[in-house]
Amino acid sequence: MDDLRLTSLNLPGINENKRPLVIAGPCSAETEEQVMTTARQLAEKGFKIFRAGVWKPRTKPGGFEGMGEAALPWLQRVKEETGMLVSTEVAMPKHVEASLKAGVDLLWVGARTTANPFAMQELADSLKGVDIPVLVKNPVNPDIELWIGALERINGAGITRLGAIHRGFSSIDQKIYRNAPMWHIPIELHRRFPNLPVICDPSHIGGRRDLIAPLCQQAMDMGFSGLIVESHCNPDCAWSDAKQQVMPDVLDFILDRLVIRENVEMT
Ligand code: PEP
Ligand code: MN
Repeated sequence: MDDLRLTSLNLPGINENKRPLVIAGPCSAETEEQVMTTARQLAEKGFKIFRAGVWKPRTKPGGFEGMGEAALPWLQRVKEETGMLVSTEVAMPKHVEASLKAGVDLLWVGARTTANPFAMQELADSLKGVDIPVLVKNPVNPDIELWIGALERINGAGITRLGAIHRGFSSIDQKIYRNAPMWHIPIELHRRFPNLPVICDPSHIGGRRDLIAPLCQQAMDMGFSGLIVESHCNPDCAWSDAKQQVMPDVLDFILDRLVIRENVEMT
């Protein structure tokens, strides 16, 4: 029997009964102004958890690899000025150390890191004795055992506020989606770990702005525990993932129109 020792993520939802747990913010922290403008607009709409990538693992060299530690004070400022919780991606122990020092409230592991057991073990070791929620994205390739192994490593380090993020899977075929959803994989993860929250990332599944709304609705219909969505104050000018980011008021509009049924079991 598969087992993980889990406790509640204990994170705030927005408009508690009306909306699911939502994490929103830009793909990357680019400048202090971009971070603060986006965060203020999200906070005004009632969003409670901010995301921004500080270290960006890129598939190929030459892309924007994130501002690194220089961006952490901006996340601190988001916390202080808006009261939102802040989250970022970690791929190495030094990212964990710097994030914890800066007061980051939630960490996620990116799809390229989940695929690497050595990196996962080092990350897990750096989280020993820390009480922080950690969300683990599925690996880029459709390998559920690698996803579970990554979750087990983090859990083995004593992290019980644990969740999974479904961000779709890389595929060479022509397709609508940037990353094929292969919904049966997160459903199988839920079957094996019924108490593990599984959050949907429509931004990296869809790769396109117009797919965010239908993917959010699909995730809710399927009983996902929440959403992590990329939102940018000026999406067309974003330094990474420009095509899939939506403005904060657009995200608010989308979420307002979601039909949320109660007690949907993930099947
Ligand atoms: C991201 O969240 O911006 C990101 C890089 O995602 P992924 O690891 O899913 O590609
Ligand atoms: Mn992104």
